[in-house]
Amino acid sequence: MHLGAMQDWSLRVTRFIDHAAREHGSREIVSRWADGTESRTTWAGIRHDAMRMAQKLAKLGIKPGDRVATLAMNHHRHLVTWYGAVGVGGVLHTINPRLFDDQLDYIANHAEDRVMLFDAVFAPIIERMKPRWKTIEHYICFDSSGPAEHFEDWIATEDGQGEWADGDERDPCMLCYTSGTTGNPKGVLYEHRSTVLHAMIGMTPPLFSVDCRTVMLPIVPMFHAASWGLPWAGAAAGAKFVYSAVNDPAVLAELMEREAVTTSAGVPTVWLGLLQHFDTAGKDIPESLKTVVCGGSAMPRAMIERLMRSGIRVSHAWGMTETSPIGTSSAETWNWDDLSFDEQVSIKAMQGRAPFGVELRCVDLGDYSKVLPRDGKTSGALQVRGPWVVKRYFKAEADATDADQWFDTGDVAVIHPDGTLQLTDRTKDVIKSGGEWISSVELENAAVGFPGVAEAAAIGVYHPRWDERPLLVVVKKPGAEVCQDALREHLAGHVAKWWLPDAVVFVDEIPHTGTGKISKKDLRDQFRDWKWSA
Ligand code: ADP
Repeated sequence: MHLGAMQDWSLRVTRFIDHAAREHGSREIVSRWADGTESRTTWAGIRHDAMRMAQKLAKLGIKPGDRVATLAMNHHRHLVTWYGAVGVGGVLHTINPRLFDDQLDYIANHAEDRVMLFDAVFAPIIERMKPRWKTIEHYICFDSSGPAEHFEDWIATEDGQGEWADGDERDPCMLCYTSGTTGNPKGVLYEHRSTVLHAMIGMTPPLFSVDCRTVMLPIVPMFHAASWGLPWAGAAAGAKFVYSAVNDPAVLAELMEREAVTTSAGVPTVWLGLLQHFDTAGKDIPESLKTVVCGGSAMPRAMIERLMRSGIRVSHAWGMTETSPIGTSSAETWNWDDLSFDEQVSIKAMQGRAPFGVELRCVDLGDYSKVLPRDGKTSGALQVRGPWVVKRYFKAEADATDADQWFDTGDVAVIHPDGTLQLTDRTKDVIKSGGEWISSVELENAAVGFPGVAEAAAIGVYHPRWDERPLLVVVKKPGAEVCQDALREHLAGHVAKWWLPDAVVFVDEIPHTGTGKISKKDLRDQFRDWKWSA
């Protein structure tokens, strides 16, 4: 018997779509398809289609907890699927089409997906993987041109007059795998409750700042890191969504302008492409754009400056699949208006502070039982906890560490006295030289600031005397000449002398992971037999 006397209203994600359809039913959802055509629907339309999809899934025998997979870009049919899959009580499993075949094989089999909904552009992947995917019984294509039943025809038999499956708020609703730079990908199984709490924080000003006047262009794919929770938070707010199924900067820029987009979210690479597009087209960033949320990897300072000079509010966020993914954001500080522009940019260039619901701490890299002070100097392994942080990976056995509740992010960071988080590296990537730590990220950041350097990666390579020493791997900009000594001199102006890389190698290409990050593991493999010259 509970002592409290308030109503029972479970925190289930279907509440979002009910609310959106009821209170913001006519707010538009725009989809721009790869072939240049567009569709327009509304939150009421999304709910109706999602209900039809849930009815259809129920007829196929999909039961609460069953996994429904997607392999698709951003568009309203994908959004319908998010709500349709959870509406039947199922678990939405968004798969990243950029993963390698072995990972795609592992993920869908490990998840035991029963239904696969996909875009026609990914038909070659489907054809290739079909014989390897053992549990998938039904294939549905989002486009009429695809090699499977068309989504619209598939749901057309249903009337949309059903009810959502009910259940506990701690039931799972979504499954996302990390790309797994080492070993097999790991699944993170989000719950209804965790997803609702996460979305409610996502709506607030330090994060996406969404309300019903927001026109949101989510560039972050719906297949990566739960699309930062936007499909849920946007419905709660009744925002208008503008989706593009292609990531071409010219298309995104045109959509931004035409639909008067106010808010957009994406990784730094996407913003680099967009800013380059505006420059070469001789255009300004559309005036309607007021907020840019950027995360997934560190935002370069020059990008922050450029956006802020155009009057845009930048929210530089840190997070990971394991944190749903919101961890921190570089929100304005209480004394924001008293700071100089440069000071403001410096704050935005760090990863920001934790919102309510996220706790952070750093522990000693050599002794995880030692919690480090928030002194802005001491770097350590970053740990987090909160209601939308993973407890254990999908299908992992419960063990003693569950009770501990602090999740090891694998990131290395410094926490400043005011709570600002500053990432300095990944635990696997820090370079240990003579018992001291060297931040590979700081070396890289300094290196890319040198003219002619397109991309740089620093890795630790075995050294007989120092254990490891940094090796800098550099890709030059097309046609550029880069002098090694001048580069080292430039680095010396940014990092401690003993951090300077013992050698610089120029390569044509640096390997990347399925989510576009530098693959240090591949790079370390590549240079495993590197010999330092005496
Ligand atoms: P993956 O599937 O590759 O694990 P995630 O999006 O979960 O994809 O990756 C999370 C990692 O990305 C974090 O642990 C951190 O190292 C990095 N990251 C995310 N946001 C930032 C940021 N703002 N600055 C620097 N690194 C970031």
